[in-house]
Amino acid sequence: MTRRLLVLGGTREAREIATALAGDTAWRVVVSLAGATKEPAPLPVEIRVGGFGGADGLARHLGENKVEAVVDATHPFARQMSANAVTACTQTEVPLLRIERPAWTRPAAAEWIVVADLDEAARILPSGARVFLTVGADSLEPFACRDDVWFLVRTMERRPDGLPLPRGKLVVGPPSQSPEEEARLMRAHRVTRLVTKNAGGTAFAKLAAAADLEIPAIVIDRPRLPPAETVADAAGALDWLRRLEG
Ligand code: NAP
Repeated sequence: MTRRLLVLGGTREAREIATALAGDTAWRVVVSLAGATKEPAPLPVEIRVGGFGGADGLARHLGENKVEAVVDATHPFARQMSANAVTACTQTEVPLLRIERPAWTRPAAAEWIVVADLDEAARILPSGARVFLTVGADSLEPFACRDDVWFLVRTMERRPDGLPLPRGKLVVGPPSQSPEEEARLMRAHRVTRLVTKNAGGTAFAKLAAAADLEIPAIVIDRPRLPPAETVADAAGALDWLRRLEG
């Protein structure tokens, strides 16, 4: 019998699970997206878009759609969604697995200043700094008060309002996986600080480049999440699903 699996998505891991389970006979997969990306890349499974209306809304959704398992494959900084998943799955007794990709670790000799959140990152930037800001298009607001800092902002999608910061430049596109390319970009803009979330995953090249160029990196620590069963990647989630089948 085919069971329903809800994957909370917005990440490469959610895409990998959807690709692996497209056409699967054991699981019918629905990937849920928040709706932040205007034109999300197509997936080979059903997609639903938009919030559920908090933990209670998610619990209702699980019941109404007879969901039998949830994989929280959201970004490590999607704190609210991950917390809601724990509450709703506990309430409804639906098995929940979280994918938590390993955090990046500091390369030897790199200068990292680890901060708790975006506000702290914005506060500690030295006046006159030229900052490569790679925190995501929805996380720029805390930096808007720093009109004494110049920002090179990289986002995946163009924002309708352009650059919402007083001084700087916007580059649109995915992160490069080449430290040399990231170093070229930082040198060309005379960058003196990198600010990034400790997202983990494939976008480490900017941190390697900052280390090579002896540019201090301000690294935003991951939010604390309520406990849940956790694996490191999509392969771990697929193993968990196979175990649930048995
Ligand atoms: P968040 O702060 O944890 O979530 C805020 C609200 O957005 C949630 O309470 C939920 O609304 C809705 N939501 C979030 N993820 C959802 C999903 N996958 N499906 C349906 N509704 C969702 O999350 P966020 O940090 O804004 O991230 C939003 C999405 O972008 C996530 O899917 C995440 O994987 C992706 N993403 C985030 C980052 C980042 O840096 N935060 C980076 C890359 C990708 P309701 O309470 O109404 O259900």
